Amino acid sequence: MISKLYLELERELRYNKRAAEAVKNRIHRLFTEYSGREGVERLKIMDFCGTHEWSITYYGLRSLMPRGLELVAGPGCPVCVVPSHYIEEAIKLSFEGVVVYAYGDVYKLRAKRSVKGAFSLSEARSLGGDVRVVQDILSAARDASSHGKPSVFIAVGFETAAPAYAWAILRDHLPENLKLLSLVKLTPPAMFYSLEVSREKPTEPPISGVIAPGHVSTITGAKAWVPVAENYGIPVVVSGFEPLDVLVSILEILRQLVAGRAEVVIEYKRSVSWHGDVKAQSAVNRVFEVVDDAWRGIGFLPKSGLRIRDNYRRHDAFAEYGVRELKPGMWEKDMPPGCRCAEVVLGKAYPTHCPLFMKSCTPLKPIGPCMVSIEGTCAIWARYGSREFLDELAGEIGEAG
Ligand code: SF4
Repeated sequence: MISKLYLELERELRYNKRAAEAVKNRIHRLFTEYSGREGVERLKIMDFCGTHEWSITYYGLRSLMPRGLELVAGPGCPVCVVPSHYIEEAIKLSFEGVVVYAYGDVYKLRAKRSVKGAFSLSEARSLGGDVRVVQDILSAARDASSHGKPSVFIAVGFETAAPAYAWAILRDHLPENLKLLSLVKLTPPAMFYSLEVSREKPTEPPISGVIAPGHVSTITGAKAWVPVAENYGIPVVVSGFEPLDVLVSILEILRQLVAGRAEVVIEYKRSVSWHGDVKAQSAVNRVFEVVDDAWRGIGFLPKSGLRIRDNYRRHDAFAEYGVRELKPGMWEKDMPPGCRCAEVVLGKAYPTHCPLFMKSCTPLKPIGPCMVSIEGTCAIWARYGSREFLDELAGEIGEAG
């Protein structure tokens, strides 16, 4: 149960304007000091997690940043990076008499190619496939045991979601007729990749600091990000999700940059520890093995996915229903024509750079994967405003920069 003290703290972190103002001013001072000393005009900080991007956009935090300090979103939306291939495989199963269970956003995710006229699981359902939306794996388990038909649950998510899947298997909650299609992804390899590509374009500033995901770190522990700080020489702050959490994390990144340090710091201490949830980690390790995995629009990243181990193969949809794995040789760019989601998830483009944004691609009629889930950057910008116009306006009247 959430304690009263905890709720009060969350309220403070959301509504304490005086503290926010003080932190904002300090961010401006440190940015001026750092940019003047280093001769840099622009600095990029990546927020990795979809929920951080939500907070930044919803609360308009970009408009509080000094001119030249950019907050870019990373690949922190697990639905956005599910390859089209697996959606196609799931649609196929639904037409072959297998009951397919999916989260609501996976249900709406569009594949690149249609299967028997269906581009998504929702279209498959309207064409006669048995697709059911569930909120969690236990709901799927309950429903599957009630009808006994061959069934599959599409297990999407990052390290945060994996323990629930592992425990469902270890505690024998899955009926024999329900198999798991594990598409779970691991976040550190994607962060390494994002940082690599941010250094490719000499005309663009590389990412100089990372706001690391709070939910994922609750499971992995902050120690998971040490290689980022060590190998790339940039500060990493594990942040909470309230606006003041994020502002304090940005401040800490700037403090480290000014001091010439590159360390992992936990701002989200009320939830994250250095070593994380060791019990959850052990359950995940028992059930899953780490594999090279494909990320939509990005390609194969080494050691970035989880598949069910052989010991538990009777629960594995790949083994039991012959779902085909995507192999590097089969890989192709799997974004719809014109969609710039591959760049959006790597922080190389903002949603407003996409010519389809809020024209043909909207939350009601998404074309690309970043417009589907509430954690997708395009969907967040579409709902809460890109702030680009407001930022410009604020700059002009002297309220920002
Ligand atoms: Fe892709 Fe739509 Fe975002 Fe464009 S607006 S990048 S089409 S998801």
